[in-house]
Amino acid sequence: MSVNESLARNCYVPDDRSHIVLDGTLNDEQFALLEKVCPAGLFQRNAEGQAVLNYRGCLECGCCRTIAGPSAFSQWRYPASGCGIALRFG
Ligand code: SF4
Repeated sequence: MSVNESLARNCYVPDDRSHIVLDGTLNDEQFALLEKVCPAGLFQRNAEGQAVLNYRGCLECGCCRTIAGPSAFSQWRYPASGCGIALRFG
């Protein structure tokens, strides 16, 4: 099974607001790191070239905060209770 096939089997309860917010001072080098490190590929450039985060597919792994550092985000927290990825065991 490919990574994309595996990610497609995940179940999410999306929140209305993003639990992770990019800081306005984020530079291109930091964003390039985020694009590389996020295992779900959620950091992308839109058609206008703006840095965006598709937070609804977040795996809550914390790699982005670990690699880019807390200064890359004006907010980084877990989704609200009952929202986010639904982890399945077994
Ligand atoms: S916590 Fe993990 S999955 Fe979520 S945005 Fe950061 S790197 Fe991507």
